[in-house]
Amino acid sequence: MKKKNNQALISFYIITIFPEMFTSISHYGVTGKAIQKKIIELSFINPRDFTEHKHKSVDDRPYGGGPGMLMTVQPLYLSIKHAQSLLKDATVVYLSPQGIKLNQNNIFNLIQKKKIIFVCGRYEGIDQRIIDSLIDEEWSIGDYILTGGELAAMVIIDSVSRFIPGVINKKKSLENESFCNNLLDYPNYTRPKEIYNMKVPDILLSGDHNKIRLWRLKKSLEKTLEKRPDLLEKKILKKKKKIF
Ligand code: SAM
Repeated sequence: MKKKNNQALISFYIITIFPEMFTSISHYGVTGKAIQKKIIELSFINPRDFTEHKHKSVDDRPYGGGPGMLMTVQPLYLSIKHAQSLLKDATVVYLSPQGIKLNQNNIFNLIQKKKIIFVCGRYEGIDQRIIDSLIDEEWSIGDYILTGGELAAMVIIDSVSRFIPGVINKKKSLENESFCNNLLDYPNYTRPKEIYNMKVPDILLSGDHNKIRLWRLKKSLEKTLEKRPDLLEKKILKKKKKIF
Protein backbone atom coordinates (compact mmCIF):
# COMPACT_ATOMS: atom_id res chain seq x y z
CA MET A 1 0.00 0.00 0.00
CA LYS A 2 1.53 3.34 -1.07
CA LYS A 3 0.19 6.83 -0.40
CA LYS A 4 -0.60 8.64 -3.67
CA ASN A 5 -0.33 12.45 -3.55
CA ASN A 6 -2.81 13.67 -0.98
CA GLN A 7 -4.98 10.57 -1.03
CA ALA A 8 -5.39 8.75 2.31
CA LEU A 9 -4.42 5.08 2.41
CA ILE A 10 -7.66 4.21 4.15
CA SER A 11 -10.85 6.25 4.36
CA PHE A 12 -13.57 5.80 6.94
CA TYR A 13 -16.97 7.46 6.70
CA ILE A 14 -18.82 7.15 9.97
CA ILE A 15 -22.57 7.41 10.25
CA THR A 16 -23.30 8.38 13.83
CA ILE A 17 -25.56 10.62 15.87
CA PHE A 18 -22.56 11.26 18.18
CA PRO A 19 -19.62 12.34 15.97
CA GLU A 20 -18.05 14.21 18.92
CA MET A 21 -17.22 10.86 20.54
CA PHE A 22 -14.51 10.37 17.92
CA THR A 23 -12.39 13.30 19.16
CA SER A 24 -10.53 10.79 21.34
CA ILE A 25 -9.05 8.98 18.34
CA SER A 26 -8.96 11.99 15.99
CA HIS A 27 -6.72 14.15 18.15
CA TYR A 28 -4.63 11.84 20.31
CA GLY A 29 -1.94 9.21 20.03
CA VAL A 30 -1.03 7.15 17.01
CA THR A 31 -4.41 7.47 15.27
CA GLY A 32 -4.42 11.25 15.82
CA LYS A 33 -1.00 11.51 14.12
CA ALA A 34 -2.08 9.26 11.24
CA ILE A 35 -5.09 11.52 10.64
CA GLN A 36 -2.92 14.66 10.77
CA LYS A 37 -0.52 13.07 8.28
CA LYS A 38 -3.55 12.21 6.13
CA ILE A 39 -2.67 8.51 6.12
CA ILE A 40 -6.13 7.85 7.54
CA GLU A 41 -9.18 9.93 6.65
CA LEU A 42 -12.17 10.16 9.00
CA SER A 43 -15.43 11.81 7.90
CA PHE A 44 -18.76 11.94 9.66
CA ILE A 45 -22.36 11.93 8.60
CA ASN A 46 -25.05 12.57 11.19
CA PRO A 47 -28.44 10.93 10.47
CA ARG A 48 -30.08 13.86 12.31
CA ASP A 49 -29.05 16.06 9.38
CA PHE A 50 -31.05 13.82 7.06
CA THR A 51 -34.19 13.18 9.07
CA GLU A 52 -37.44 14.43 7.59
CA HIS A 53 -39.17 14.03 10.97
CA LYS A 54 -40.59 17.30 12.26
CA HIS A 55 -38.82 16.92 15.65
CA LYS A 56 -35.54 15.77 14.03
CA SER A 57 -36.08 12.36 15.59
CA VAL A 58 -34.15 9.33 14.25
CA ASP A 59 -35.84 6.57 16.28
CA ASP A 60 -39.26 5.02 16.78
CA ARG A 61 -41.04 2.17 18.58
CA PRO A 62 -40.60 -1.38 17.22
CA TYR A 63 -43.53 -2.99 15.37
CA GLY A 64 -44.92 -5.92 17.32
CA GLY A 65 -44.07 -4.26 20.63
CA GLY A 66 -41.11 -4.84 22.92
CA PRO A 67 -38.73 -2.65 24.88
CA GLY A 68 -36.77 0.34 23.62
CA MET A 69 -36.60 2.20 20.34
CA LEU A 70 -35.07 1.46 16.96
CA MET A 71 -33.25 3.72 14.51
CA THR A 72 -35.65 4.40 11.65
CA VAL A 73 -35.01 3.66 7.98
CA GLN A 74 -35.33 7.12 6.41
CA PRO A 75 -32.43 9.08 8.03
CA LEU A 76 -30.09 6.07 7.90
CA TYR A 77 -31.00 5.27 4.29
CA LEU A 78 -30.24 8.82 3.14
CA SER A 79 -27.07 9.00 5.27
CA ILE A 80 -25.68 5.78 3.80
CA LYS A 81 -26.60 6.81 0.24
CA HIS A 82 -24.88 10.17 0.82
CA ALA A 83 -21.75 8.45 2.18
CA GLN A 84 -21.72 6.10 -0.82
CA SER A 85 -21.91 9.04 -3.21
CA LEU A 86 -18.85 10.60 -1.51
CA LEU A 87 -16.86 7.40 -1.04
CA LYS A 88 -17.37 5.35 -4.18
CA ASP A 89 -17.08 1.54 -3.94
CA ALA A 90 -16.88 1.61 -0.15
CA THR A 91 -17.84 -1.41 1.96
CA VAL A 92 -20.77 -0.61 4.23
CA VAL A 93 -20.20 -2.10 7.68
CA TYR A 94 -22.80 -2.19 10.44
CA LEU A 95 -21.26 -2.45 13.90
CA SER A 96 -23.30 -5.15 15.56
CA PRO A 97 -22.95 -7.71 18.35
CA GLN A 98 -24.27 -10.21 15.77
CA GLY A 99 -21.38 -9.59 13.35
CA ILE A 100 -18.05 -11.24 12.55
CA LYS A 101 -15.99 -11.08 15.72
CA LEU A 102 -12.89 -8.90 15.35
CA ASN A 103 -9.52 -10.51 16.05
CA GLN A 104 -5.89 -9.84 15.20
CA ASN A 105 -6.08 -12.15 12.15
CA ASN A 106 -9.22 -10.90 10.44
CA ILE A 107 -8.21 -7.24 10.84
CA PHE A 108 -6.26 -7.84 7.59
CA ASN A 109 -9.51 -8.49 5.71
CA LEU A 110 -10.73 -5.07 6.76
CA ILE A 111 -7.54 -3.21 5.81
CA GLN A 112 -7.74 -4.55 2.28
CA LYS A 113 -11.06 -2.77 1.78
CA LYS A 114 -9.43 0.70 2.04
CA LYS A 115 -12.83 2.46 1.93
CA ILE A 116 -15.26 1.73 4.72
CA ILE A 117 -18.56 3.27 5.75
CA PHE A 118 -19.34 2.44 9.37
CA VAL A 119 -22.95 2.53 10.52
CA CYS A 120 -23.18 3.04 14.28
CA GLY A 121 -26.42 1.81 15.79
CA ARG A 122 -27.99 3.26 18.94
CA TYR A 123 -31.05 2.42 21.07
CA GLU A 124 -32.07 -1.21 20.44
CA GLY A 125 -30.38 -1.20 17.04
CA ILE A 126 -31.51 -0.41 13.50
CA ASP A 127 -34.47 -1.38 11.30
CA GLN A 128 -33.79 -4.74 9.61
CA ARG A 129 -34.61 -3.27 6.19
CA ILE A 130 -31.41 -1.19 6.33
CA ILE A 131 -29.38 -4.32 7.08
CA ASP A 132 -31.06 -6.25 4.27
CA SER A 133 -30.71 -3.56 1.64
CA LEU A 134 -27.56 -1.53 2.33
CA ILE A 135 -25.22 -3.35 4.70
CA ASP A 136 -22.40 -5.41 3.15
CA GLU A 137 -20.90 -6.78 6.36
CA GLU A 138 -21.59 -6.81 10.09
CA TRP A 139 -18.67 -6.65 12.55
CA SER A 140 -18.64 -7.14 16.31
CA ILE A 141 -15.93 -6.31 18.84
CA GLY A 142 -16.98 -9.07 21.24
CA ASP A 143 -19.76 -11.02 22.87
CA TYR A 144 -21.19 -8.23 24.98
CA ILE A 145 -23.67 -5.43 24.32
CA LEU A 146 -22.57 -1.80 24.03
CA THR A 147 -24.98 1.13 24.08
CA GLY A 148 -23.87 2.17 20.58
CA GLY A 149 -21.63 1.31 17.66
CA GLU A 150 -19.30 4.30 18.14
CA LEU A 151 -16.90 2.62 20.58
CA ALA A 152 -16.84 -0.47 18.36
CA ALA A 153 -15.99 1.69 15.32
CA MET A 154 -13.19 3.38 17.27
CA VAL A 155 -11.77 0.04 18.42
CA ILE A 156 -11.76 -1.21 14.83
CA ILE A 157 -10.23 2.00 13.43
CA ASP A 158 -7.52 1.95 16.11
CA SER A 159 -6.60 -1.68 15.58
CA VAL A 160 -6.76 -1.48 11.77
CA SER A 161 -4.65 1.70 11.74
CA ARG A 162 -1.70 -0.01 13.35
CA PHE A 163 -1.23 -2.13 10.22
CA ILE A 164 -1.28 0.75 7.75
CA PRO A 165 2.23 1.58 6.50
CA GLY A 166 3.48 4.80 8.07
CA VAL A 167 1.20 4.67 11.12
CA ILE A 168 3.49 2.53 13.30
CA ASN A 169 7.12 3.30 12.53
CA LYS A 170 8.66 -0.11 12.94
CA LYS A 171 7.17 -3.14 11.17
CA LYS A 172 9.12 -5.29 13.64
CA SER A 173 7.13 -3.94 16.58
CA LEU A 174 3.97 -5.37 15.00
CA GLU A 175 5.59 -8.74 14.35
CA ASN A 176 6.46 -9.25 18.01
CA GLU A 177 3.10 -8.37 19.42
CA SER A 178 0.64 -10.64 21.19
CA PHE A 179 -1.42 -12.86 18.85
CA CYS A 180 1.17 -12.65 16.09
CA ASN A 181 1.91 -16.35 15.35
CA ASN A 182 -0.62 -17.29 18.02
CA LEU A 183 1.81 -16.34 20.79
CA LEU A 184 1.57 -13.69 23.49
CA ASP A 185 4.24 -11.01 23.67
CA TYR A 186 7.35 -11.72 25.80
CA PRO A 187 8.01 -9.62 28.96
CA ASN A 188 9.54 -6.21 28.26
CA TYR A 189 11.74 -3.95 30.38
CA THR A 190 13.14 -0.43 30.04
CA ARG A 191 15.54 1.84 31.95
CA PRO A 192 16.69 1.84 34.72
CA LYS A 193 18.40 -1.57 35.14
CA GLU A 194 17.30 -1.68 38.77
CA ILE A 195 14.56 0.11 40.67
CA TYR A 196 12.89 -0.50 44.07
CA ASN A 197 14.90 -3.71 44.34
CA MET A 198 13.55 -5.00 41.00
CA LYS A 199 16.09 -5.97 38.34
CA VAL A 200 16.02 -6.41 34.58
CA PRO A 201 16.93 -10.05 33.66
CA ASP A 202 20.71 -10.29 33.05
CA ILE A 203 20.27 -11.86 29.62
CA LEU A 204 18.72 -8.67 28.23
CA LEU A 205 21.86 -6.76 29.19
CA SER A 206 24.23 -9.39 27.74
CA GLY A 207 24.31 -8.01 24.19
CA ASP A 208 24.05 -11.60 22.85
CA HIS A 209 21.23 -11.20 20.32
CA ASN A 210 20.80 -14.89 19.61
CA LYS A 211 20.47 -15.75 23.29
CA ILE A 212 18.05 -12.84 23.77
CA ARG A 213 15.91 -14.05 20.85
CA LEU A 214 15.73 -17.58 22.29
CA TRP A 215 14.97 -16.29 25.80
CA ARG A 216 12.14 -14.15 24.43
CA LEU A 217 10.69 -17.06 22.47
CA LYS A 218 10.82 -19.26 25.60
CA LYS A 219 9.08 -16.54 27.67
CA SER A 220 6.45 -16.06 24.94
CA LEU A 221 5.70 -19.78 24.98
CA GLU A 222 5.58 -19.89 28.79
CA LYS A 223 3.25 -16.88 28.98
CA THR A 224 0.95 -18.27 26.29
CA LEU A 225 0.81 -21.67 27.99
CA GLU A 226 -0.03 -20.03 31.30
CA LYS A 227 -2.54 -17.41 30.12
CA ARG A 228 -3.91 -18.55 26.74
CA PRO A 229 -3.28 -22.27 26.12
CA ASP A 230 -6.01 -22.14 23.44
CA LEU A 231 -3.64 -20.09 21.25
CA LEU A 232 -0.96 -22.79 21.43
CA GLU A 233 -3.51 -25.39 20.36
CA LYS A 234 -4.31 -23.24 17.31
CA LYS A 235 -0.58 -22.96 16.57
CA ILE A 236 -0.13 -26.75 16.71
CA LEU A 237 -3.21 -27.33 14.52
CA LYS A 238 -1.89 -24.83 11.95
CA LYS A 239 1.49 -26.64 11.85
CA LYS A 240 -0.26 -30.02 11.42
CA LYS A 241 -2.31 -28.60 8.55
CA LYS A 242 0.90 -27.44 6.87
CA ILE A 243 2.46 -30.92 7.20
CA PHE A 244 -0.53 -32.77 5.70
N1 SAM B 1 -30.65 -5.23 20.26
C1 SAM B 1 -29.34 -5.43 19.69
C2 SAM B 1 -28.99 -6.91 19.74
O1 SAM B 1 -29.29 -7.55 20.75
O2 SAM B 1 -28.33 -7.41 18.80
C3 SAM B 1 -28.27 -4.63 20.44
C4 SAM B 1 -28.41 -3.15 20.27
S1 SAM B 1 -27.14 -2.26 21.10
C5 SAM B 1 -27.92 -1.84 22.61
C6 SAM B 1 -27.07 -0.74 20.23
C7 SAM B 1 -26.00 -0.66 19.16
O3 SAM B 1 -24.72 -0.83 19.73
C8 SAM B 1 -26.08 -1.69 18.07
O4 SAM B 1 -26.99 -1.30 17.08
C9 SAM B 1 -24.66 -1.75 17.55
O5 SAM B 1 -24.43 -0.77 16.56
C10 SAM B 1 -23.84 -1.41 18.78
N2 SAM B 1 -23.20 -2.58 19.44
C11 SAM B 1 -23.58 -3.13 20.61
N3 SAM B 1 -22.77 -4.14 20.95
C12 SAM B 1 -21.84 -4.24 19.98
C13 SAM B 1 -20.72 -5.10 19.76
N4 SAM B 1 -20.42 -6.07 20.62
N5 SAM B 1 -19.97 -4.90 18.66
C14 SAM B 1 -20.28 -3.93 17.78
N6 SAM B 1 -21.33 -3.08 17.93
C15 SAM B 1 -22.10 -3.23 19.02
